[in-house]
Amino acid sequence: MLRRLGLTRTARSLQRSKVAPISKAFFHSTEAGKPGPPQKLSKSYTAVFKKWFVRGMKLTFYTTLAGTLYISYELYKESNPPRQVPQSAAFANGLKKKELVILGTGWGAISLLKKLDTSLYNVTVVSPRSFFLFTPLLPSTPVGTIEMKSIVEPVRSIARRTPGEVHYIEAEALDIDPKAQKVMVQSVSEDEYFVSSLNYDYLVVSVGAKTTTFNIPGVYGNALFLKEIEDAQNIRMKLMKTIEQASSFPVNDPERKRLLTFVVVGGGPTGVEFAAELQDYVNQDLRKWMPDLSQEMNVILIEALPNILNMFDKTLIKYAEDLFARDEIDLQVNTAVKAVESTRIRTLQNGQKTDDIPYGMLVWATGNEPIELSKTLMGRIPEQTNKRGLLINDKLELLGAENSIYAIGDCTAHTGFFPTAQVAHQEGEYLAKILDKKLQINQLEWDMLNTADDTKASHLQKEINSMKSKLDKFNYKHMGALAYIGSETAIADLHMGDSSYQLKGMFAFLFWKSAYLAMCLSIRNKILIAMDWTKVYFLGRDSSV
Ligand SMILES: Cc1cc2nc3c(=O)[nH]c(=O)nc-3n(C[C@H](O)[C@H](O)[C@H](O)COP(=O)(O)OP(=O)(O)OC[C@H]3O[C@@H](n4cnc5c(N)ncnc54)[C@H](O)[C@@H]3O)c2cc1C
Repeated sequence: MLRRLGLTRTARSLQRSKVAPISKAFFHSTEAGKPGPPQKLSKSYTAVFKKWFVRGMKLTFYTTLAGTLYISYELYKESNPPRQVPQSAAFANGLKKKELVILGTGWGAISLLKKLDTSLYNVTVVSPRSFFLFTPLLPSTPVGTIEMKSIVEPVRSIARRTPGEVHYIEAEALDIDPKAQKVMVQSVSEDEYFVSSLNYDYLVVSVGAKTTTFNIPGVYGNALFLKEIEDAQNIRMKLMKTIEQASSFPVNDPERKRLLTFVVVGGGPTGVEFAAELQDYVNQDLRKWMPDLSQEMNVILIEALPNILNMFDKTLIKYAEDLFARDEIDLQVNTAVKAVESTRIRTLQNGQKTDDIPYGMLVWATGNEPIELSKTLMGRIPEQTNKRGLLINDKLELLGAENSIYAIGDCTAHTGFFPTAQVAHQEGEYLAKILDKKLQINQLEWDMLNTADDTKASHLQKEINSMKSKLDKFNYKHMGALAYIGSETAIADLHMGDSSYQLKGMFAFLFWKSAYLAMCLSIRNKILIAMDWTKVYFLGRDSSV
């Protein structure tokens, strides 16, 4: 305490000069036993304490004030966006405004939309999902660590905050005709059913991927996925229902044991984070309300490879695996799922031993495969020869339709890139810059076409050539990977230039939280998420359906 108040030196010098200890010297007693006037030492101690106390209070006050002002300003800005430039057929100088159609409202599409000067194009976004979903925190939602509404942001509000008017169509793209430059879209709402065709000059395909089942029989129909907000809702309902069902059976009943076995398949970040959240829920919440039943709950994580979290440094993998063992998550590596039935899964361990695991809930969180639209598009372009995803060049142009179609994010098969939000986000931002530059080139070409002055035309041509040569390739910068592994611990494998840093434990958990808060799209999301975490800390999880 003394050290914190900067008083160490004062106390030592007082000791050296043989002055009575502070506690005794604080009040000088008179012979009559009444407290006398405070001595010089007491005065200086009180004064220093007061000074630091006042400073501390001032600092707290100004920090709170600055924080409140910043948040209020950001909230005001978010809810009062300026007027947008309306869509139009042409610019004031007569140049035709190009039609830019963006398919999807995920990481790739929204990063593009946020960064793009939308007044330069007539932008139309088509997606069956009318909101952006902050997927990194999706595994926290089924057990109620974070509320589902806290991690979504309506696409209309994102679009409204851009400089130019953006049209949004709540529909699914069914087909793309690269030659005619048309997209066929179909509404998702049965009440207002329509099928229509949109013309485009540039098309950005950012439709993501779906979870692969590796054609294992029985996965569809029995397993739950964790990709969209409805999936999280389904898991929450199934979890609560299964626990209630189990409680109606007597202890040691095999049916009770089965119902209380929760299997997660896939040892990537999604599977690991969900298993960790589930075990946290059991240890931190269920143990209070249903102590006996919680002891019987069994979380099993199955991974076909020898390790979980393969993209992380080996020391971090070991740390996560040890923590799982301590937290009693049953980790089964080198284990391949062979078949899924409604109440049991069949596995093969180390290629030798088969096992039947009865389960109450099964969550499937394995890799990706292309959605139907991507497959249809591949079928239309001979250059698209990779079954895993759309092939693009280093400028993110779709092979076989380089002049008009871009593809970004999980729908692509780009060697060396993991299907992550980080990649999709950087690709979206890169594309925004490219589209800005392309428009500048178009403007110069238009000026050149409309000038009779040869000198000016040759000057413009040089400028165009120079700008074209500056259309850089996409250069991905890997910043690292983060994963929550339970019991308020996380792992972080960070990359800065050529160096890498590994963090683990409580500090990594705080870093994980701050990083995801910083990455949220809006201040509204940041506030809601921070409130959810605080609520869980003090009140526990609200996992009621
Ligand atoms: C639970 C979970 C946790 C994750 N955690 C992390 C993490 O911590 N860090 C990280 O880097 N990555 C993480 N990821 C991966 C990351 O979310 C994806 O890599 C990222 O979302 C890919 O972005 P995208 O734009 O390609 O696709 P998505 O974000 O999936 O978006 C696809 C969009 O396309 C729309 N769409 C689908 N079909 C059509 C159609 N026919 N027509 C029009 N639109 C269509 C969808 O509705 C959606 O809006 C996580 C993923 C999940 C599921």
